[in-house]
Amino acid sequence: MPSPQDADLLLQPQGAVEELSKPGTSTLFAEASEAIRRKFGFECLRPLQDRAIRVALEGRDALVVMPTGGGKSLCFQAPALVQPGLVVVISPLISLMKDQVDGLLANGVPAGMLCSAQTPEERRTVYEELERGGLDLLYVAPERLAMEGFFERLEAFGMVSLAVDEAHCISHWGHDFRPEYRQIGELRARRPELPIQAFTATATPAVQRDICEQLALRDPEVLVGDFDRPNLTYRVKPRRNLNDQVRAVITAHSGEAGIVYCLSRKDVEKLAEALAAAGVRCEPYHAGMTGEHRNRVQDDFQSERIDVVVATVAFGMGIDRTDVRYVVHASLPKGVEQYSQETGRAGRDGLPAECVLLHSGGDYHNWKHLMERSAQEALERGIETATEERDAGLKRLGHVYGYATGALCRHMFLLEYFGQRASDELREKGCGACDVCLGELQRVDDSQQVAQKILSCVVRCEQRYGAGHITDVLRGADTARLRETGHDQLSTHGLLKQKSVSEVRGWIEQLSGHGLLATTGGQYPTLYLTRTGVEVLKGEREIQLFVTHTAKTEGKRKRRAAVSAAAEVGLEADEALFEDLREYRRELARERGVPPYLIFNDRTLALLAALKPSSEVDLLSVKGVGEKKAADLGPLFLERIAAYERSRSK
Ligand code: ADP
Ligand code: ZN
Repeated sequence: MPSPQDADLLLQPQGAVEELSKPGTSTLFAEASEAIRRKFGFECLRPLQDRAIRVALEGRDALVVMPTGGGKSLCFQAPALVQPGLVVVISPLISLMKDQVDGLLANGVPAGMLCSAQTPEERRTVYEELERGGLDLLYVAPERLAMEGFFERLEAFGMVSLAVDEAHCISHWGHDFRPEYRQIGELRARRPELPIQAFTATATPAVQRDICEQLALRDPEVLVGDFDRPNLTYRVKPRRNLNDQVRAVITAHSGEAGIVYCLSRKDVEKLAEALAAAGVRCEPYHAGMTGEHRNRVQDDFQSERIDVVVATVAFGMGIDRTDVRYVVHASLPKGVEQYSQETGRAGRDGLPAECVLLHSGGDYHNWKHLMERSAQEALERGIETATEERDAGLKRLGHVYGYATGALCRHMFLLEYFGQRASDELREKGCGACDVCLGELQRVDDSQQVAQKILSCVVRCEQRYGAGHITDVLRGADTARLRETGHDQLSTHGLLKQKSVSEVRGWIEQLSGHGLLATTGGQYPTLYLTRTGVEVLKGEREIQLFVTHTAKTEGKRKRRAAVSAAAEVGLEADEALFEDLREYRRELARERGVPPYLIFNDRTLALLAALKPSSEVDLLSVKGVGEKKAADLGPLFLERIAAYERSRSK
């Protein structure tokens, strides 16, 4: 079976590349492929990388939209290896740049960066190298472009093209607008013939258009990858007992890496504490912690000293750990872009990983409230675009709410959101990797009646009570409170007697999700019917409910990563050796003061554990082992594997 990552990048129909190629490009391309094999140990390019690299070598503009983990960096790194001159990469975050530069240096590629966090000494060294023409790639922060004379210096250093990473930052329709990015457009105006390639993981069609416009791309080749990440299994569950629900996911992935996202700093601290008390080794991470503390947590996670981080969304950009096996969201994210970006941090090695979203109807209202308030404040400060941005924000929120409460295949939903058509096969057979397609959501046969019972109970209770109370009435509870309110006498009392509390609560969530019920804000939110709710109650509109999750319908989980990586190339994994090599990688990483993934990633490790190479030649045939690493790390890993074999044959 081919690796899902290799197969996942479908191309938009466009003219054949060969016809467009300038003379000489194909020789350069062959050289680039060879360099990729030698330096990075990748035998083949993913389809979209192939296209993007050819376009770059032809000196044409491009917009490359590829999901996280799709392999964007290779698209600008590979041309830099074979083209004379300097490729300048604009990147928004220092940590992100640093990771890439370290990674390149580890593979023997001359690269450097310039940013404000460096000492003058460090910057001078980089300038000296540039003067010598010793660098293939230079990473710079966008604000540097505005510095007097900087652009001229880049020209003097032989800049031949510009790669703009995280290009959605240039669009205020994107979710991560950075005004500094607008300066790139000015650069273009000063040197119209400079080829620009823009890269992003998250761009709806509107944002794609905006990027092309803002950067004034000339007849760009727009390459859009398949946003489906088949190795990710998506699940959405109503949030009930958060601590237990999160613990269940962590336990199912014990010994594996995961991230749990919470909305606020307070939520992070509460959950991290509760998990720690339950014996989970984890660390909190949020912007309220000191920089030093945050760096330590990030470092511990990168170096595999800890596997679980409970964090706000401040954690993630620049996390390059490729073996994250699960991402849990403890509440509704702000938009589908964010959700896809945050879950995109799982399974970057292409091996199975799980994304669980826990949410409640109230999450939507909290966000809405927050967005409205901050727009109001911005307006008062005279920011005129605030209304427009709020509306765009609310629209994005509505979409992610639809994702969470709907029951459409999650993979299909995400694909279509990013403007792509799901394949017929996906439509017909389902994805096999989401709660909907795995049949974990069961249809309720008499949905309409159940919905009407709930809605009418809310009306009978005069739309003045919360979900807990409504549930009690419907289940025919015999409590003092029901007797006090006289609600034990209502005609709706006991209408759903056979159902469990969690079932009824779940349906109330679903009705809220479909916009039939809404809740008032405040400390004791109460339920009321919306206009659509009234229509359903009157039988003018249909509604489908799903059986809410119980322990029994908890789906089967995919195989462990090592087993799966080996199976992809028709091998059987030796899980004990895999664990042994992971341990060894951790030791080496600690000794060398680098993150473990820079040694080898999990996929390569799994292949080593399955193939058990015994010579350098064998070693070089393993995906992910280039010449430099074979020379540098080869003997060490060969010895470790041999030692493992000896210990077993005793
Ligand atoms: P992105 O920037 O799109 O999120 P990266 O460039 O970080 O993705 O690449 C994601 C992972 O895929 C990395 O571990 C990288 O080593 C791996 N990778 C990239 N290209 C290839 C390839 N052609 N063959 C095998 N692995 C690849
Ligand atoms: Zn599905």
